[in-house]
Amino acid sequence: MEISQPLEELEWIPRPKILALRRLGITTIEDLLTHFPRRHEDRSVFPEFPSQESDKPVCLCGEVIKTSLRRFGGWRRIFEATLQEPSANVLSQPLVCRWFNLHYIQKMIATGQQLVVFGKPRLRGKRICMDHPEFEVIENDEEKSIHMRRITPIYPATEGLSQRILRGMIYRVLQELDTTPIEPLLPEKLKNGDRGEAIRAIHFPETWESLAAAREHLVLSEFFAMQMLIASRRTEAHSRVSGAHCGRGELMEKFLRTLPFELTTAQKKVIAEIRRDLASKFPMNRLLQGDVGSGKTVVAIAAILLAVEAGYQAAFMAPTQILAEQHYAVLRHWLRPLGVKLSIRTAARQEESFLPLVEGDDTADVMIGTHALLYEKVSFSNLGLVVIDEQHKFGVAQRARLTSREPAPDVLVMTATPIPRTITMTVYGDLDVSILDEMPRGRGKIVTAVRDSSKLGEVLAFLRPQLEAGRQLYVVYPLIEESEKLEAKAAAAEYERWRERLYPYSCELLHGRLPAPEKQEIMERFRRGETKVLVSTTVIEVGVDVPNATVMLIENAERFGLAQLHQLRGRIGRGEHKSYCILLSSEPSSETVAKLAVLEKTSDGFEVAEADWELRGPGDLLGTAQSGLPALKIGDLRKDAQLMKRARTTAMSIFEMDPRLEWSENQRFRKFVVEQQGRTFSNVS
Ligand code: ADP
Ligand code: MG
Repeated sequence: MEISQPLEELEWIPRPKILALRRLGITTIEDLLTHFPRRHEDRSVFPEFPSQESDKPVCLCGEVIKTSLRRFGGWRRIFEATLQEPSANVLSQPLVCRWFNLHYIQKMIATGQQLVVFGKPRLRGKRICMDHPEFEVIENDEEKSIHMRRITPIYPATEGLSQRILRGMIYRVLQELDTTPIEPLLPEKLKNGDRGEAIRAIHFPETWESLAAAREHLVLSEFFAMQMLIASRRTEAHSRVSGAHCGRGELMEKFLRTLPFELTTAQKKVIAEIRRDLASKFPMNRLLQGDVGSGKTVVAIAAILLAVEAGYQAAFMAPTQILAEQHYAVLRHWLRPLGVKLSIRTAARQEESFLPLVEGDDTADVMIGTHALLYEKVSFSNLGLVVIDEQHKFGVAQRARLTSREPAPDVLVMTATPIPRTITMTVYGDLDVSILDEMPRGRGKIVTAVRDSSKLGEVLAFLRPQLEAGRQLYVVYPLIEESEKLEAKAAAAEYERWRERLYPYSCELLHGRLPAPEKQEIMERFRRGETKVLVSTTVIEVGVDVPNATVMLIENAERFGLAQLHQLRGRIGRGEHKSYCILLSSEPSSETVAKLAVLEKTSDGFEVAEADWELRGPGDLLGTAQSGLPALKIGDLRKDAQLMKRARTTAMSIFEMDPRLEWSENQRFRKFVVEQQGRTFSNVS
C-alpha cells in the first residue's frame, strides 16, 4: 500500500463507501488521510456527569436507561434518551439528551446501549439536559481500541459515512500503510518532525501535546504550500516584460502645487514608494491600503501623472458607475488645466448611444471607467499604468484581465477595507503593500450613535438644526426585495416618507436601478448643494466625496456588516464640520447591540476590521473565495497567523535565491507549485 494509491484498489472498502467518499472528493489514500478531524474527544477518561450547566461543551459516556417520545403543539415531537453514568451510584443525577423534531434519532438509540455524547449541559427545571448533542453509539467490544479509551478523532459530518466507519477506515489504512517514505512538504528550515508521523498523530494522537505538534506541522505544511504558490506568482509577475513608466515628475509637481492642501506625510511616503516602482523596469504590483478619507485619490492622480509624463496611458478603474463619474469629474478638474486628455468608459454610457458617448477617444492619456474597461474593445495603444480603486469590489480574475496584458503595465490597487495582516499575506500575498496610516488634518470628528427605530422623532429633531445650519444629509437603507421592480418601489415609498418628514428641505432619491445619466445628475445636484437630503441605497457605499454632507442616517443598520457600515460612514467627516452617523436599528438582540457598539467606540478602520473578522470570519470580509487560492484543510487564518508569517518568510526567501526551484533541495517543491497553479488557474477563469 502506498499513499498515492486509489482507494478503489483496497478490497475491504465496500463499493457504496467508495462512492460516498468520492462525493467528498476523496479518491486516494492521501485524500483520506488528509481528511482531517474537526476536533478530538478525550475518551480515555470521562468526567463525571455534571450537576450544573456550563457554556463549555463536555464529552460524557453513559448507558441509556430510558427513552421516550413526546408530542407537543400538534405535530412537534421531542425524543429523549436518559443516560446513567456507568459506575454511578443510584443517587447521581442522570443526563437527559433531547432532540426536537428529529424522528430518525429514535431509530438509532435504544435502552441498554452505551452512548458517548458531546454538548453543553443545561439546567432545565430540575433536570440536567443536553439538547441536540453529537453522539456515538458504542457497539462492540473488539473495536473499542479504535473508538474508545483514547483521544478520539471526530470528522466533518458526511452523508452515508458514519463517524465510526470513517474512523475505522482511517485507522486500518494507518495500520497497513508504511508512512516512512511519505515525502516531507517542508524545507529543513521549518521542519519539526516527520510528515508521516504528523499524519498518524493528527488522527490518533497519544497525547494532547503530540496532537498539537502534529497540527503545527501540518498547518505549516499547508501554509508553506500556499506561500510557495503566492511566491511563484509573484516571481512570475516580476519577470514579465515591462519597462519603466515614470516621467521626471514635473507634471506631478505642478498638480500638487495647485492643491489647496499639503500632502500628509503618509501620502508623500506612499507616492515615493510608487514612484520607485514606476521607475523600475519590473512591473509594479502594489496594494495601497488607506482608511476611508485618507486621501487615496490624490495618490492615484500623482501616479497617473508620472506615467503620463513619460508618454504612457493610464487606466483608472472604479467598481461603480457613480464612482467612475466622480473620479472623472475630479480628474477633469485637476488635469484639464495641465493639458492631460481624459476619457470615460462605463457600460451605462455605452448603452445610451444617443448621448455624447465617449469624451476624448482611445488616444486619451487617461481612461476612467468601470468593468467596461475590461470587457469592451478598449484599445490602449500604450498602457503603462492601471489603477484599480476599491479593489475589494473586484475579483482576482477581473484584476488579472487588465493586468495580464503584454507588455505588462504597472498596477496599483487601492482599498479602503482595512485588511487584517494574515489576509494581506494570503489573498493579497502577491502584492507589495503601501499603507496610508494617517488622516489629513482639519477633519471634523465623526460621532456615531446607535438608536432604536422607535426614537425616530428625537432623531428628526436632531436632523433639522443640522439642515438649518446648511449641512447636508444622507439617508441610507438596505434593500431587501429580490426583484428589481419591487426594489425600486420600496425605494420610492421610502423616499416619499422622507420628503414629508424633512419638508421643506429638498430631497432626492438615488438607487442602482436609475438610468445612468439620471444618477449622475442627482449626484451632481447633491454635490453642488442644491439637494439637501439624499435618500439612497448602498450605491453610495464607496468613494463618494461630498464634504458638506455631515450627517448620515442608516436605517435597519443591523442588516449591514460592520465593514460596510464603516465604509458608509466614511462618506461623512470629510470636511471641517463635525459629523454625525446615526445607526437606526429595530432589533434589540444583544448580538446586534454588541456589533453596532463597535462603531460607536471606534472610528479606526483596522479595529473595525478586526472586530468584523471576529464576528463574521474572513470569508465575508474579503471574498476569499475569489482569491484563487486553494481552500485550507487544516490551517486557521485567524488562529495561526504566526505560522503563516513563518511560512511566508521562508517561501519568499527560497524564491528569492532560487526563482526556478532548480536547486536539488528545492526541486521537490516544484510539483506542488505546478499542481496548485493548474488548479487555481482553472478556478479563476
Ligand atoms: P479615500 O482615501 O477615501 O478615497 P479621497 O481620496 O476621496 O479619500 O479623499 C477624501 C477627501 O480628502 C477629498 O476631498 C480630498 O480632496 C481630501 N484630501 C486628500 N488629501 C488631503 C490632505 N493631505 N489634506 C486635506 N485634505 C485632503
Ligand atoms: Mg476613494
